[in-house]
Amino acid sequence: CGIVGYVGRRQAQDVLLSGLEKLEYRGYDSAGVAIFEDGEVRVEKSVGRLAVLGDALIAHPVRGNQGIGHTRWATHGRPSNENAHPHADCSRAFVVVHNGIIENYQTLRDQLLESGHSFASETDTEIVAHLLEEAWTGELFSTVLAVLPNLRGAYALAIMAKDEPGTLIAVRKQSPLVIGLGDGEQFLASDIPALLEYTRDVYILGDGELAVLQSDRVLCYDLAGNPIGKEIFKVTWDA
Ligand code: GLU
Repeated sequence: CGIVGYVGRRQAQDVLLSGLEKLEYRGYDSAGVAIFEDGEVRVEKSVGRLAVLGDALIAHPVRGNQGIGHTRWATHGRPSNENAHPHADCSRAFVVVHNGIIENYQTLRDQLLESGHSFASETDTEIVAHLLEEAWTGELFSTVLAVLPNLRGAYALAIMAKDEPGTLIAVRKQSPLVIGLGDGEQFLASDIPALLEYTRDVYILGDGELAVLQSDRVLCYDLAGNPIGKEIFKVTWDA
């Protein structure tokens, strides 16, 4: 029920955990992060309170400057370590966090099973990672655009690809998502309080909008891939 993401120069683990703490009010049953570490994507997740994940990360820190994180409110698949986000495809080339429900996930899952995919979780979310694996163009943006028309339902997604370090993609359809703009660093989150420690310059993504985040810039598009201009929203209140 909460999504965060970071790309920049700080330790991603610290930014993701502090952001997820600010989103705790949204409720959750498990939490997880995926962080680039030495060219690999390391995933850590645990059922239960955020502090369980936090303690695990303090004991065994993931060192890297880019990542995504999630607190889950289970809709498809019981609360468990396996069903906690982030989710990955078979080759672990893509990691995805998701808020919402992919309504046609069963049909997509059956098709993916038929073409040889196997699943590590019972979630509707995991199919997104497998669809990205199937659609891979060699570039994350066009791959995401190719997958989105297959998805029915409500989703906020944050996505990273192992073969495209430095890029985070955020997609908003009927679930909230905001982008925090920094100097040499960028943030994404389900809600503004998660960003306020770091920035007050925000893009509020509209329904059916997508953002490509890299440490030095954020570009926004509609779901057909047409560029759109966004106004910076200046947050003047405190959380
Ligand atoms: N439908 C997804 C799941 O059950 C995401 C739930 C959420 O929004 O946290 O894992």
